[in-house]
Amino acid sequence: MSFLEKAYDAETFRQQGHALIELLADHLSTAYSKNDRPAFRWEDPKDAYEKWAAVLQSGQDSIETFDQVVRESVQLHHPHYMGHQISPPTPISALAGLLSDFLNNGMGVYEMGIPGTAIERVVIRQVASQMGFGPQAEGILTSGGTLANLTALLAARRAKATENVWREGHSRKLALLVSEEAHYCVDRAVRIMGWGEGGIVKVPVNDRYQMAVSNLESSFQIAINAGYSVIAVVGSACSTSTGSFDDLNALADFCAEKGLWLHVDGAHGAATTYSKKYKHLVDGLHRADSVVMDFHKMLLTPSVTTALIFKRADDNYRIFAQRAQYLWEQEGEQEWYNLARRTFECTKTMMSLKAFMNLQTGTPALYDEYVTRVIDLSKSFAHLIKEDPNFELAVEPDCNIVCFRYLKGDSDLNALNESIRANLVELGQFYIVKTILRGQVYLRTTISNPFTRIEDFNELLESIKATQPVIS
Ligand SMILES: *Cc1c(COP(=O)(O)O)cnc(C)c1O
Repeated sequence: MSFLEKAYDAETFRQQGHALIELLADHLSTAYSKNDRPAFRWEDPKDAYEKWAAVLQSGQDSIETFDQVVRESVQLHHPHYMGHQISPPTPISALAGLLSDFLNNGMGVYEMGIPGTAIERVVIRQVASQMGFGPQAEGILTSGGTLANLTALLAARRAKATENVWREGHSRKLALLVSEEAHYCVDRAVRIMGWGEGGIVKVPVNDRYQMAVSNLESSFQIAINAGYSVIAVVGSACSTSTGSFDDLNALADFCAEKGLWLHVDGAHGAATTYSKKYKHLVDGLHRADSVVMDFHKMLLTPSVTTALIFKRADDNYRIFAQRAQYLWEQEGEQEWYNLARRTFECTKTMMSLKAFMNLQTGTPALYDEYVTRVIDLSKSFAHLIKEDPNFELAVEPDCNIVCFRYLKGDSDLNALNESIRANLVELGQFYIVKTILRGQVYLRTTISNPFTRIEDFNELLESIKATQPVIS
């Protein structure tokens, strides 16, 4: 057989496919029982590169390579994984990913992905109605929260700028208001749009790291006095560092009064809309003009799968429209099924199927159970931290993000907690990260594995105490 024939051989695929599923199923069962694997294995970048360069030359069996990748990767399904905000995908949604990759339907035009396109609409409708939007709402799935936030802000500009920037470029200075705790991608989107550093007006936060609504008016006035046209407010639901939710109703009131666009960056926390117990965190969400929600953060879906919802369909159709807006209205038909008109991407993976398979497993019960459980777990963890005088909780968690630090006498707490995190990385028994709040280093955990238990939190706290270094 030639290389080409070998690469497409159906029997080889069958065997390798079976072997891979066996490998992953074994991995899944051992991850839960924490038997033989650490949650994380640190490796020096140079060593990792050289090793993989050698693997390429080695003629190693493909399944052996897969196995090696599994062993050396961060173990999201491990109960000691408490790191960045990404959730362990359900196996069925990962299988959907395999199917999408295999079919490779591009989804830019309808005929290049008929099921994927129709499924995307089903998913978007489900999400929009879950969030409380009416039948006028429309949306897309797109490649990550970063791109989704940029896309939403392009829509805001289209709707609120007094000139047609898409055709003529900028002649006025535009700006938006956002909490100083917002994700950096909002800042990046503003700069990409050419608004410059002054285009992002950071509103101070209160002691719970939520945008201090009382500062909105003064921040607004400062921007106006500096010659900016403020066109939007971006609410964080929730913030990345501490999982703090801005008061969306207060932001919506402010936007209504000033005629501004309200965009909600719910990449992480808009998923709480699925929890009967915690959906109050995003009260007012349906008042937003646009909302971003990542499925890969709190909704058990492989990355990247992001929903971007617009309250009014027209706002979605106009973003990238080359022709004047009246042509759309005259046409009367918005061709929802030709997705590339409304998304940044041209070719796009069939991410809709990954979300759809989770919804099909239980709409919306699976997500309700998951979101409720991980937030409950986070509150229990926070409780343990507060009970132990060796630790300090940064802020009472609203979501599944818990930040805390180790306290010890009059030592340099920043250096101490930096080295605790470094030690944990070295040991690999737990995977947690860190953040900086008001200049102080905190250990940061995202409780994303629904099979993490109280005993795991106890183990983590004990292991921090046992491994904490001597700081002179
Ligand atoms: C993760 C996150 C983003 C970025 O989303 P990606 O999917 O990683 O591109 C944006 N905003 C917030 C609040 C986030 O938590």
